Order: sequence, then structure tokens, then C-alpha cells
Amino acid sequence: MPPAQQATPIFRTEEELARLPASERIRYRLVGAECRFHANDNIADHVRPGELDELKAEVEARMQEVLRALVIDTDSDHNTQETARRVAKMFVDEVFVGRYSAMPSVTEFPNAARLNELMIVGPIKVRSACSHHLCPILGKVWIGVLPNEFSNLIGLSKYARICDWIMSRPQIQEEAVTMLANELQERVKPDGLAIVMEADHFCMHWRGVKDDESMMTNSVMRGAFLKDANLRREFLSLLSKRNGG
Ligand SMILES: [Zn+2]
Repeated sequence: MPPAQQATPIFRTEEELARLPASERIRYRLVGAECRFHANDNIADHVRPGELDELKAEVEARMQEVLRALVIDTDSDHNTQETARRVAKMFVDEVFVGRYSAMPSVTEFPNAARLNELMIVGPIKVRSACSHHLCPILGKVWIGVLPNEFSNLIGLSKYARICDWIMSRPQIQEEAVTMLANELQERVKPDGLAIVMEADHFCMHWRGVKDDESMMTNSVMRGAFLKDANLRREFLSLLSKRNGG
């Protein structure tokens, strides 16, 4: 049978699992838990201590094969001798770390002062990569929150940390803003939530032909921002002022 059609055994003992590469072990747990593991999903709950180092070693070995397939002489080319290792480290520890690390801890405070005014956070710098080409996506996010007396408030810097956690994965911009909205909705429980993301997609500059379409803007409006056109206008106008527009 070709590998893609091989059935996953129903059960594997811990000993059998230990003999597998870490990526197969983690995949086995994900499938068993019926957890989705798309490029922009977080799988931290299924990774055990020490396994990220194993993953990095695996990615390095495969990346070395990619360089080989590209017919790059990494033996004598001093520039690429360490490239596989560098790229593996960059993927697992840095640019895709939002897949492998747990959600940043965020303390929520009750809205003791009963704030109910529009609050805007941003611009928050976005560094991500597109799922299609693994090319950088660089941009900004603005978040509008309309709290009510039952909302939880979180520190300003926490918005940036949650955003970074979601963006540090291979992403699709539309899905990224929705993921961010879901995460904030669940924590803050505001009356209204608005998110605007404006980002530059480097796959368009680097390899594409439509250079003028490299900038993409997306928004999510929920609750009061959907129902109240004035609130939406207020948010968008404050945002364009801050953006120098
Ligand atoms: Zn792309």
C-alpha cells in the first residue's frame, strides 16, 4: 500500500510509540484525540517535554534533503552548511512557535470600574507566514473592544501576546483574524469586538506577478460593532487617524 493509504493502527503501546519519530508520535496522539492539526492549529497539548528538540532534529534532517534535492552542495558551500539546522530552529522555535507553545497566560480582571467606552488597541505588529508558500506576512492589527460591566479586562500587552501566538503559525489572513476574534471573545466577553488586519504578503512581492495586490485588509465585526453603524464608524475613523490616514 502507498504510505498515504496505510491505516493507522488502533492502538500502539508506549514502547512502540517511543520507537517512532516524534512527529509520528505526536500525530498518533492528535488522531487518537480527534484533534485537527492544520497549519494554523495549536498542538501544544499533544507535545510532551523534550519532543520539540526531537522535532527540530527531524525537520533539520528533512530540510537537508530539500537542499540536496535543490542540488545545493552543502558540503563545500560554507554558506549553506548550517542552513538546515538554522531553518529547523527558525520554524519550530520562532516563526511557527505559536503551533507548539501553550497559550500565553493571561490574567483577567473583573470590570470593577464598569468601563463601557470604546477601547482601541493597536497597531499591534504582525509577523506571520502564509500557509500556501510559507512566505512572510508582515502587517498590523487593530482591536476594538466595547466592554460591559460583566466583561473581563486584560492588560494591553496581553492583546499583543495573544495576537503574536496566533500569528506565529503558517496562516491564512481571513482565518487568522477569526481565530484572534474567537480567542478574545472567549476571554474578554465584550458587548462588541472589532478586529482589522492590514498586511503585506511577501509571496506576492517575491514570486507573484500582482505586486500591487500584495497589501490585504481584513476585518471581523461582532456584537455591537455589527448592529451599530455609528460605533463601527467611530472605530474605523479613530483607526485611520492613528494610521495617519
Ligand atoms: Zn502565499
